[in-house]
Amino acid sequence: MLRVTEIFRSIQGESTHAGRPCTFVRLTGCPMRCVWCDSEYTFTGGEHMSIEAVMAQVHAFGCNLVEVTGGEPLAQKEAFELIERLCNEGFEVLIETGGYVSTAGLDARAKVILDVKCPASGEEPRNDWSNLERLRADRDEVKFVIADEADWHYAKSVIEKYDLQTRAHAVLISPAWGQIDLQHLANWIAASGLNVRMQLQLHKYIWGPEVKGV
Ligand code: SF4
Repeated sequence: MLRVTEIFRSIQGESTHAGRPCTFVRLTGCPMRCVWCDSEYTFTGGEHMSIEAVMAQVHAFGCNLVEVTGGEPLAQKEAFELIERLCNEGFEVLIETGGYVSTAGLDARAKVILDVKCPASGEEPRNDWSNLERLRADRDEVKFVIADEADWHYAKSVIEKYDLQTRAHAVLISPAWGQIDLQHLANWIAASGLNVRMQLQLHKYIWGPEVKGV
């Protein structure tokens, strides 16, 4: 059984897939506590559902693109089986993971969007660096949420150290909501010359930052 906070259909708000219709399977629970977390409602509660029941809801929404997210979806062992089922049934599968749990053992057909936690999150010491070595340039993306200038310098150092511009399909630079001046971040990115992509959380601009299930 999986513990599920919500399953809903919306548009993808982040990554290079932003704007595409997508079904989201948001699993309950996370071992981390990022100070700017916008998903604290996933930490507790949720509904116990079988993989069959999750698959039935996903099929009912009728989107070919499915994101498995959280919380930290990979903290539930059964998530790996769900992801394999989704791939077997022909869905294009995105995994949004916080970078603490190992991605080893994930179905190779799924596309990983991997967070690297920066210092201002309070969870930087818990990054599993081996996850960066598993990134595949044809499909996986890596994301840095930036809350201040020190985070930006940290992100640049990790991008260079792990050669992420060639190792990942995309390097995403995302401002922590309400924490940083967007123009400052845009200027830093532009001046860096790095092959990275600034991304805004599209769903928050459309529906507002507090609305769940979008
Ligand atoms: S990893 Fe994600 S869900 Fe977990 S605390 Fe950090 S931002 Fe929130």
